[in-house]
Amino acid sequence: MRQPNDIPEIDPKRCTGCGRCVAACREHCITLEVSGYRKYALLVLPQHCTGCGACVDACPVRALS
Ligand code: SF4
Ligand code: SF4
Repeated sequence: MRQPNDIPEIDPKRCTGCGRCVAACREHCITLEVSGYRKYALLVLPQHCTGCGACVDACPVRALS
């Protein structure tokens, strides 16, 4: 059973906006948001998250936990 803790947390300060987590998520839970001159990942559909961890594994800068 899915626990609330299984939903990834995104650290916007670490995120470089590379988009790898967006591509890795089969449930399309994550999108890239533009804020001023930078992009960062945002979990937009946490209710669809299966807690698979693919986004965490895909992030090269460990912005996801
Ligand atoms: S844990 Fe899996 S389902 Fe949830 S946001 Fe990450 S890649 Fe998507
Ligand atoms: S993979 Fe990591 S650095 Fe890249 S957009 Fe996702 S959270 Fe940000």
